[in-house]
Amino acid sequence: MTRRDFLIAGGLFLTGFLPLGFSGPVLRPPGARRDFLARCIRCGQCIEACPYDTLRAMDITSGGMAHSPYIDPLRTPCYLCQQRGPDGIDRPISEFLRCGEVCPTGAIRKIKNTKDVLANVPEDMKIGISVLNRDLCLAWQYDSCGECYYNCPLKDRALRDFPPDMIFSESTGIRPWVDPRHCIGCGMCNYVCPVKEHVASEVMERSHKLSLFEARYAAMVRNLVGRAGPGVKLPAIRVTVRP
Ligand code: SF4
Ligand code: SF4
Ligand code: SF4
Repeated sequence: MTRRDFLIAGGLFLTGFLPLGFSGPVLRPPGARRDFLARCIRCGQCIEACPYDTLRAMDITSGGMAHSPYIDPLRTPCYLCQQRGPDGIDRPISEFLRCGEVCPTGAIRKIKNTKDVLANVPEDMKIGISVLNRDLCLAWQYDSCGECYYNCPLKDRALRDFPPDMIFSESTGIRPWVDPRHCIGCGMCNYVCPVKEHVASEVMERSHKLSLFEARYAAMVRNLVGRAGPGVKLPAIRVTVRP
């Protein structure tokens, strides 16, 4: 028995003593079927195959979901098996998304790795859908940022620089708009958005060290989050689980 087999066996044994009531929203890999949990045998092959270490195994406190793969976009988004070159152009690093390619049970379906396919996958194969809160968005409120738009791997399809119902003006900066028909829920926008808890609280508490990227936006983030009041959900653009 390998070390991994031992850990999996131990984890499955322990889950028998834990409540199976974990009900938080869970983002699954792209292509995960509706009956994903019934099909997933917790082999970890998708986790090992992901070139970006995006996929993580749920821990034993998740009960019956223990050791199944999930995505936490605040830590590592899904890069859709693309690599961005110095010219700013994304290129596929494999013919199919790797997590679905290696899944031995079909719990994650194979998806051809082209932008046309990825921007048009059926609803039941998406990771989730991104939702943007304009009141918290630096672009909508201060004509700044735009990081989500520039970093979206499905830029100009899933995330556009202007809503379709808005009249474009040369003097106005970008106004990010998510097209739910094309967003696959990769979480890149969620990951890069600087309107985050620690950025707002750092400026208020001065207890954390911010990156240069975060420091650039920190004052504006503090203003927006302070204005929104307690309990507001951050970041300004968030991936929610598919319906
Ligand atoms: S699509 Fe690629 S980057 Fe995304 S989770 Fe699967 S293997 Fe990782
Ligand atoms: S989740 Fe965000 S970054 Fe990913 S496709 Fe949707 S809009 Fe683009
Ligand atoms: S990254 Fe966040 S703050 Fe910046 S434009 Fe996108 S939603 Fe707005």
